[in-house]
Amino acid sequence: MKEVVILGAGYAGLRTLKELQKSKEAFHITLVDQNTYHFEATDLHEVAAGTQPKEKITYNIADVVKPEKTTFIQAKVVKIDREKEEVFLESGQVLTYDYLVVGLGFQSESFGIPGVTEYALEMVDVDSAVKVNEHIHEMMRQYVATKDENFLKIIVCGAGFTGIELLGSLVEGKKALADIAGVTPDKIQIYCVEAVTRLLPMFDEKLADYAVKHLTDWGIQWYTGKPIKEIKPGVVVYQDDAETKETKELEAKTIIWTTGVSGSHVMGDSGFSERRGRVMVSEDLTDPDHKNVYVIGDVSAVMDAESQRPYPTTAQIALKMGTTASKNIIHQLKGEKTEAFTFKSQGSVASIGNTHALGLVGKSSVKGYPASFIKKMIMNKSLLETGGVKEALAKGRFDLYH
Ligand code: NAD
Repeated sequence: MKEVVILGAGYAGLRTLKELQKSKEAFHITLVDQNTYHFEATDLHEVAAGTQPKEKITYNIADVVKPEKTTFIQAKVVKIDREKEEVFLESGQVLTYDYLVVGLGFQSESFGIPGVTEYALEMVDVDSAVKVNEHIHEMMRQYVATKDENFLKIIVCGAGFTGIELLGSLVEGKKALADIAGVTPDKIQIYCVEAVTRLLPMFDEKLADYAVKHLTDWGIQWYTGKPIKEIKPGVVVYQDDAETKETKELEAKTIIWTTGVSGSHVMGDSGFSERRGRVMVSEDLTDPDHKNVYVIGDVSAVMDAESQRPYPTTAQIALKMGTTASKNIIHQLKGEKTEAFTFKSQGSVASIGNTHALGLVGKSSVKGYPASFIKKMIMNKSLLETGGVKEALAKGRFDLYH
């Protein structure tokens, strides 16, 4: 029987699994993930800020696996040998495949900036998001002991989608933090240091200003146009003046790194032709040199014919890639021609806190409460389609009317 191996139970991998399990064709699937759970990567900022418990953004992979068709292995993938068609796991186990789907997701990217790995907190998976939250709580307690105001300060590095969403959740979580520290919420200082001056460039200025204005009104202190040059313990060193290159320092006991991500290091370690962990795939999502290897989600780069640039890495695209990869594997099993990946964005919406959001739906701008509603609906749809009714009911966002 043909063997399909899926690496990663993120949005891309799980969608592939779900679709393949519907097929009547005779093949066996092995799914590998380092965790026993899937997590909603788009909601990590809420766990980091403490506005949602980790249980709300995770569900058991076992709930999606159909044992009659699929074997799940909890293990870390170390390397892929595409010539021998083998996958090496940290446990020492070696898997062989006829078809491989690589959906190993993203990791934090330091861009080689000194001190990032050592002194900034990353927020790329459930464990690191929980660690951010535990760290902030500990800093609040340290404030009680020392009365040093730096313990009340939080710096978010980077104001991309992730940074903006994290800032919104941190504002929302301020009250609980202030209670631990025994201060009023306004004493919790939140800063954002960002290299560019025009935030959220994917949105028009009016829409981007909406986010900035709200966050400013909620007390966020911006350092825009200030590229970060180094992180030292409790200090962000940024370039204050582009001409003189003069640097300045901003102190805080919590420094969170959200300046961008790269695809899994396994891609480079396995000799894929990649840039920042992303492989430029053929139009049917296969590795250009290996027609039985699909590369999808954040480890994949696929050209958008319209913009002539690779699509951004989003959950929405990862899900669509999973659907196309599963269709193409079935085509190949039947000896048929594969299909080209096409993607029509349903829009992108960034939340700022639980009740505000902004974004594009189709070609229309949405903001405020309606955008927040849409964002929750998008999240519920994804939960329903990948996790199923049980997960959608348990973890869905139905707190829409406050
Ligand atoms: P990003 O690359 O989109 O944003 C990173 C930000 O950090 C940029 O504004 C950049 O200018 C800034 N930056 C980079 N280096 C810096 C430095 N040295 N000093 C200061 N600032 C620096 O990364 P992201 O926000 O993690 O998003 C990654 C991907 O995930 C994107 O494609 C994004 O669209 C997607 N995403 C989507 C959603 C959503 O749809 N709601 C949410 C989160 C992420």
